[in-house]
Formats: sequence, structure tokens, C-alpha cells
Amino acid sequence: MTIIDGKKLAETLKTEIAAQVAEIKAAGGKIPHLAAVLVGDDPASQVYVRNKVKSCEDVGFTSTLIRRPADATEEEILEVVNHLNNDDDVDGFIVQLPLPKHINEERVTLAIDPKKDVDGFHPVNIGRMTLGLPTYLPATPFGIMTMLERYGIDTYGKDAVVIGRSNIVGTPMSLLLSRKGNPGDCTVTMVHSRTKDLAAHVKRADIIVAAIGRPHFVTADMVKDGAVVIDVGINRIDDPTHPKGSRLVGDVDYDAVAPKSSFITPVPGGVGPMTVMSLIMNTLKASRKEIYG
Ligand code: NAD
Repeated sequence: MTIIDGKKLAETLKTEIAAQVAEIKAAGGKIPHLAAVLVGDDPASQVYVRNKVKSCEDVGFTSTLIRRPADATEEEILEVVNHLNNDDDVDGFIVQLPLPKHINEERVTLAIDPKKDVDGFHPVNIGRMTLGLPTYLPATPFGIMTMLERYGIDTYGKDAVVIGRSNIVGTPMSLLLSRKGNPGDCTVTMVHSRTKDLAAHVKRADIIVAAIGRPHFVTADMVKDGAVVIDVGINRIDDPTHPKGSRLVGDVDYDAVAPKSSFITPVPGGVGPMTVMSLIMNTLKASRKEIYG
């Protein structure tokens, strides 16, 4: 069994990207610039955005954090988006979700210029992904594809089961795995909360991607010997033995499943760090105008 070390791989990617940024600098080129918009003070969102800004600094990008209070109006946020769309120095930007309830997330996402949508959430970029055209891939699925590629995991003709059908993880993940190419060329089954006998589907899988947000949902009896197990879930559970009284676990019962798997991602330190690196890789593509010319 091999543990897919997302933290270590993210560090390797950081070193590679930092070297490319140094080359751009030496040649007098424009330094890639990522902006992040954070509305309100949701603690988890603050941590995510802080990680993104820190990763930008680590690779030598320029980063800008724009904060607005929780009671900011939708018009104010749309104004920020419009400003960033037109700021030539900003190559890409993200609006951290979730937004406060009074702001329509769809309207905000649609207002982002697809050329600068480095989160890959705009319908234009999702459409391009579906058609196999160059695009900014959504960060978490992009991070998982990079992991599969860098660990040399053979996906050709494999049965993959994706658990969860969200717009940001399950749905794009199932599309990417079924696409022609490497990684890809899988026969994909997407299962969800309405699936009959979900365990039987998972049991057949050579590759399992769990993205549901239920601690220890995937148990050892649901996993075939030698399966590749990718755990996207991030769940906080009570643990009186832990100094904080709680700890993070994935959607997979790691201790029981790991010995049966060929490859497995831990939580934390698996998919999470790769998600942040995807954003950095998308911003580099944006600054190089690789997607839209
Ligand atoms: P979501 O809540 O939008 O979607 C959950 C999906 O799981 C839904 O499609 C639902 O049908 C399915 N589901 C829920 N309960 C189920 C059940 N009992 N049986 C079968 N299917 C069930 O979640 P999301 O945004 O896709 O995130 C999923 C998990 O991944 C969460 O824990 C989230 O925190 C985590 N996440 C991690 C990263 C990362 O970088 N590691 C990124 C995004 C999300």
C-alpha cells in the first residue's frame, strides 16, 4: 500500500512553479497575480483564503486579498468582481464560497470573466471541460488528476466509482475520469444519496473517489482488495484524546481501508493541499494566457 502524500507533492509542485516564476522575473516578464475576495468572517473560509495567499507568496506570485464585511450588498460584491475583471494586472481571481445568504452565488459566479475564473466554476469553463477544450479545471478534481498522474497510477479501462455529485467535486471528477487520456479512460459510475445499494457499486471499483462529507462513510467491507482510494471529505469529529477536543477525518475509514488499498490519500495531508496548488497552476496558466490566448 502506498500513501499518496498530497502535502509532499504540493511542496514539489511549489518548488517547480517557484523556479518558473524566477525565470519569468529574470526575463523581466510580468509576475502572475492572484486576487481573492473574502466576504464576511466565516472561520473556515478565512483559513482557506489564508492558505491560498500563503501559497502565492511561497511561489513568488503577487497576491491581493480583498475583504468585505458580512453585510456587504450583492451590488458591492459585483462591483468588486467588475473591478477585478478589468484590472489588467490581475491574471486570475476567486470569490471564496460560501457567500452570505443574502448574496446570490450564481449571479456572482456568472459575473466573473471566464478568462480570469481560476476556480473553474464559471459555466463557460465547465462547458469547455465537458467538451475537452482547454480550460481552468475546478481545483479539487484538477488536484486529484495531478495526484494520479504524478503517482503513475494506471487508470486505463479501470472501473471508477465517484461518491457524491456536487458541482465542485463529484460531477467534474466523474467527467474527468471518463475522458480520453491519462489519467482518464475509466468506466465511471457516479453514486449519490439516492443510489440503490451504493455499497455494491463501490465494491466493484478499482478507483474510489469519496466526496460526500460523511465521516468514515466508506468502510473496509465496501472496498475491493487493491483499490485506489481518494478521500476528498473533510469532517471534524469530537475526540477527547486530542488536545483541541476534535480532529479532522475524511469520508473513508482510513485505518481499516488502508491495508486493503493499493494507493490511498490521508486526511489531512491528501487532497486538501493539492486543491490549493491547482489554483496556483490555473493562475500560472492565466498569466501565460494558455487557455484563452
Ligand atoms: P456537497 O455537500 O456539495 O455534496 C455532497 C454530495 O454527497 C451530494 O452530491 C450528495 O448526494 C452526496 N451524499 C451525501 N450524503 C450521502 C450519502 N449518505 N450517501 C451517498 N451520497 C451522499 O459536498 P462537496 O462540496 O462535494 O464536498 C464533499 C466533501 O469534500 C466535504 O466533506 C467537503 O468539506 C470536502 N471537500 C474537500 C475539499 C478538499 O480540498 N479536500 C474540497 C472540496 C470539498
